[in-house]
Amino acid sequence: MFSYRHAFHAGSHADVLKHFVIVQLIKYMQGKEAPFVYIDTHAGAGLYALDTGYAAKSAEYKTGIAKLWDRKDLPSSLADYIDVIKALNPNGKLRYYPGSPYCAEYLLRIEDRLRLFELHPTEVKILLENMKKCEQHRAAEGHKARGRRIMVEASDGFHALKALLPPQQRRALVVIDPSYEDKQDYQRVKQSLAEAIQRFANGMYMVWYPILQRQGSRELPKKLSQLPINNWLNVTLSINQPLPDGFGLHSSGLFIVNPPWTLEGTLKEVLPYLVQVLGNDSGAKFTIEANADVR
Ligand code: SAM
Repeated sequence: MFSYRHAFHAGSHADVLKHFVIVQLIKYMQGKEAPFVYIDTHAGAGLYALDTGYAAKSAEYKTGIAKLWDRKDLPSSLADYIDVIKALNPNGKLRYYPGSPYCAEYLLRIEDRLRLFELHPTEVKILLENMKKCEQHRAAEGHKARGRRIMVEASDGFHALKALLPPQQRRALVVIDPSYEDKQDYQRVKQSLAEAIQRFANGMYMVWYPILQRQGSRELPKKLSQLPINNWLNVTLSINQPLPDGFGLHSSGLFIVNPPWTLEGTLKEVLPYLVQVLGNDSGAKFTIEANADVR
């Protein structure tokens, strides 16, 4: 179960879609002054060096962030996401890539809260160290949170989510981003989302999923849309045709519950750009589907 390491995929086209949307969701949550909690059920290591180890070996960032790095024609909402990465690489050379916890930590206000879960013993250790450095950086800038701003736990994020809902703040953004290495993950995502919605229907939830030949993967968005949810949006991005050997991830999707009303418009602006810049052949495309209540 523990062979998955997100560093292999850091900065890939799938990460670009996921982290670009996370930045949009956080910015929307921050449109209101009231603090909120950001919950990441499958957090990973938080931050990745692209020039060493697994990330350098797989070089998946070349399918994603590397193609956007020097672009001068970025749509402004995509630039919001690139700005997070630019802040990590102040000398202008793309060396570090932020995972979802880092994107959130960078953007969250001192009164917002992060609750991060990661099961892999090595990943959680690195995540803890990375988050400690973020806290030290905040402290050096004179920001001190009341109570624990960041909590990292070495536990099962599916299981932990329930206990955090409804949140004290009554506002939450929940990211559910498993590796799907275990086929049970498809069922567990559905089950966790169903329970979470039952406990806290007003939360904003984002589920990432790979688009593979595997049946569980193909059926997931449909199954999620059948949950008792009034507002949802499903977005997918493919960068090429499936390869004949079925190898590699060419498409991924995000299923978002209670999306910002602005999101569909933003995606309609940015996704054609991503298809153009990240696409490799005529199989490059995007889809956006939303239920009637968000339109
Ligand atoms: N969200 C991260 C990001 O965007 O930077 C990437 C997460 S990666 C796709 C999935 C992570 O979930 C892996 O690091 C894996 O070790 C971890 N994991 C697998 N099963 C888990 C579980 N039940 N609870 C918490 N973490 C789990």
